[in-house]
Amino acid sequence: MSPMGNGAGRVHVVGAGLAGLAAAVSLADAGHRVVLYESGQHAGGRCRSYVDAELGTRIDNGNHLVLSGNRSALSYLRLIDALATFEEPGDAVFPFVDLAIGERWTLRPNRGALPWWVLCSDRRVLGTRPRDYLAALRLRDCGPDTTIADCLDAGSLLYRRLWQPVAVAALNTAAEAGSARLFWQILRETLGRGAAACRPLVPREGLSESFVDPALAMLRAKGAEILFGTRLRAIRFADARVAELNFDSGLIDVGDGDRIVLAVPAAVATRLVTELIVPEDHAPIINAHYRVAAPAGGPLFIGVVGGTAEWVFRKPGVISVTVSAADSLVDRPAEELSALLWRDVAAALRFPGQPPLPPWRILKERRATFRATPAQLTRRPATVTRWNNLLLAGDYVDTGLPATIEGAIRSGLAAADAIARLSAIRIPGG
Ligand SMILES: Cc1cc2nc3c(=O)[nH]c(=O)nc-3n(C[C@H](O)[C@H](O)[C@H](O)COP(=O)(O)OP(=O)(O)OC[C@H]3O[C@@H](n4cnc5c(N)ncnc54)[C@H](O)[C@@H]3O)c2cc1C
Repeated sequence: MSPMGNGAGRVHVVGAGLAGLAAAVSLADAGHRVVLYESGQHAGGRCRSYVDAELGTRIDNGNHLVLSGNRSALSYLRLIDALATFEEPGDAVFPFVDLAIGERWTLRPNRGALPWWVLCSDRRVLGTRPRDYLAALRLRDCGPDTTIADCLDAGSLLYRRLWQPVAVAALNTAAEAGSARLFWQILRETLGRGAAACRPLVPREGLSESFVDPALAMLRAKGAEILFGTRLRAIRFADARVAELNFDSGLIDVGDGDRIVLAVPAAVATRLVTELIVPEDHAPIINAHYRVAAPAGGPLFIGVVGGTAEWVFRKPGVISVTVSAADSLVDRPAEELSALLWRDVAAALRFPGQPPLPPWRILKERRATFRATPAQLTRRPATVTRWNNLLLAGDYVDTGLPATIEGAIRSGLAAADAIARLSAIRIPGG
């Protein structure tokens, strides 16, 4: 580990998922000397693309939908100059199908914050009335212990056809258990701001080409050190600060002016900093990938109600399906899941006839994200810790958002901002 001597003023960013990358690029852009450590051989963590040998093609580890209202993700993408790696943002249109009765509709929020789209039957959910939507305002005034189902009418068609699928996807938590406050925050930042905040941003190639590779290129161009295969296994604290980082590959003395951004998953963070309280209950996500082209002319993605699949994405040569909070499915055999989900895909995308099962791959992430229940939210730590040179980043940190790309990036940018504030405080005092 030759470059890592005892110099002052470095920022050690541990973990090269989106939280760590966001912190690192923001700090490097502000002129800090950044060293990025990653235990794996690649960056991106839970948001990346790779060649799947079994399927014989490159896939994303999961389907990640980013919207134009995700302001932290957009700042990050601007910083790493990656906006051109996305398809031209489409209109804010969200096609849905209810497989139980074969009905289809398309949600089309209007421009501007005044949501007049709910007054138009061809823009709102089929079978719902404008006044049904007013009930969502109750989410705004909910207490911290309230769940989405406590707050909204769980028996209503609007709940089944809109609030539930959106909440489960955004929170990776069953709507019956998900935090009403957190759901409100999501709606406030996207649907509540109209079409301009709801335009889908779809990577042209894959997650890594849009979110990861440009960040690594920018860091290298700014002179940051990036060390793969470098796992942090312990931290030594002295007084109110981190004094030493113990990596698989050697010890790093933490200089007086150095800072650390710990951007590892919650379970790793609490192993390294034992007094840290973090969310401990995680929910699974299942992704199914089929190596087949979708019928021409269909949408880029479609929301599915009344089936097993929840969201179906069409990608070049691959169709991918996501099921969030997949507790009831995660122990079922992959063969069974591939057939079950394929039936929904074929119906949702209107494949002609009875299409045979194409080559498939089922990915089960048993601990995909923390469960966004009111109880788990009380366990989210702040960015700033009681150690004056240690900051936290990661989707589990208290950003006010669920564990998403937007939440992870916001946590990384917040850690970088906190370092900027700490540096500003130090300078006047010498
Ligand atoms: C299947 C799936 C589907 C998802 N779908 C969506 C979606 O549609 N929309 C959305 O917004 N979000 C989605 N998410 C959530 C999103 O991917 C995560 O919230 C986000 O990527 C988390 O980023 P992170 O940087 O906080 O953590 P991670 O991505 O987990 O990054 C942590 C990094 O730290 C490294 N590390 C761990 N231990 C050490 C150590 N001791 N030393 C050094 N490095 C270490 C890890 O290797 C990893 O690279 C999905 C997640 C999954 C798994």
